[in-house]
Amino acid sequence: MMSLEGTYDEGNVFALILAGKIPSTKLYEDEHTYAFLDIQPQSRGHSLVISKWSKARNILEVEDEALAQVMATVKKVANATRRALDPDGIHVAQFNGAPAGQTVFHLHFHIVPRWEGQPRGFVAHAQGDFADPEELRKLAEEICAQF
Ligand code: 5GP
Repeated sequence: MMSLEGTYDEGNVFALILAGKIPSTKLYEDEHTYAFLDIQPQSRGHSLVISKWSKARNILEVEDEALAQVMATVKKVANATRRALDPDGIHVAQFNGAPAGQTVFHLHFHIVPRWEGQPRGFVAHAQGDFADPEELRKLAEEICAQF
């Protein structure tokens, strides 16, 4: 089990996404960061933000510069998500080490829109169904229009 110790795995799923080896539903991209929809969303519009260049597995080892770049994108994506989906709240989460809930060992932040009473459903971290790719594509269009 991967914990806080270890080395960056070049074959992790987010490295493969960045390399274009597996598809993802893009929301936003700039020189240093990439944002895309989670395939197992905790709520409608759940997205992830990653650094394109940092090999940090978690927040403990990330370069300050990469962290600042990623957080600036987290803010942009959270605002676009708010404008597109009108949530009542948005939670931003990040897990370090398998015992804390981390499953992909390339530093990432979750942006999860939340609604009062969760009318659109809310599921616990990594407990939900896999999203329909076509639904993710439509959702990305809505959010992308708000940058
Ligand atoms: P962690 O548990 O490491 O904080 O979060 C990893 C997240 O990545 C989970 O929410 C999971 O649903 C998501 N995820 C895992 N594999 C893929 C993938 O291939 N594509 C996308 N878009 N998300 C993924």
